[in-house]
Amino acid sequence: MRINHALRVGVGVIALTLAAATASACGGGGGDKTALDHAKDGKLTVGIKFDQPGLGLRNKDGSYSGFDVEVAKYVAGKLGVKPDAITFKEAPSAQRETLIENGQVDYVVATYSITDKRKEKVDFAGPYYVAGQSFLVRADNTDIDGPETLKGKKVCSVKGSTPAQNIEKNFPDTQLQANDTYSLCLEGLRAGSWDAVTTDDIILAGYAAQSSGAFKVVGKPFTTENYGIGLKKGDKQLRDQVNNAIEAMFADGSWKKAFDATVGASGYQAPQPPALNRY
Ligand code: GLU
Repeated sequence: MRINHALRVGVGVIALTLAAATASACGGGGGDKTALDHAKDGKLTVGIKFDQPGLGLRNKDGSYSGFDVEVAKYVAGKLGVKPDAITFKEAPSAQRETLIENGQVDYVVATYSITDKRKEKVDFAGPYYVAGQSFLVRADNTDIDGPETLKGKKVCSVKGSTPAQNIEKNFPDTQLQANDTYSLCLEGLRAGSWDAVTTDDIILAGYAAQSSGAFKVVGKPFTTENYGIGLKKGDKQLRDQVNNAIEAMFADGSWKKAFDATVGASGYQAPQPPALNRY
């Protein structure tokens, strides 16, 4: 009897676990609906960063701000969805492909570089901005100003990010610490646990601007990071519509306006928008 009971409880637990796994795989969106179905229903779930001032930031009052947030809202608007009908979900660097593949988000606007490796799992619209890898150091640092000055240095970046992969592959003399988020890298930089944080210049500029003079960005950008909007692989209709939205944002001045109002605060001038890559 006891064994029987234990078995039944066990089966129950497995069934519940399966149900929970299925529910979470479908995310808030529900079922097999595509992003465009969700848009037709009037709501979208968008992956952004929560800890990148000027780009994707969750503010203390629960609101969201930054250039990526503005791009996400503009695209949603073109898909017929109002800003307050968007659910923003945190999309840490290493989780972006999975969030898209599992349908937990409809799209990702999160300083997300278009790479061939990522294109095996997801599609991209864009690019809507081009950044480059650089370094953030404490203001009194004088010995790091580029990738060739990294030998033996402790450098922090984020798991699953292109800058971390680049250091690992091309600068093996560097002691790379890969954390889950950039916030953890910043804490360690402040505490002296590492010598530098590396990622895209535009992200680092936001951290430097918020540091009250504690940090500075050094070195010329030494990679090309084409920021795309990550989408479910194979949804060509969605990709075309998102590309059209980005193009409209460039053309009607909203892109520059959004850039100046967000990233502009860290001293960045809006460049010319990049050319779209409609592959
Ligand atoms: N753009 C780079 C990437 O997509 C670094 C920024 C980030 O981690 O979001 O990996």
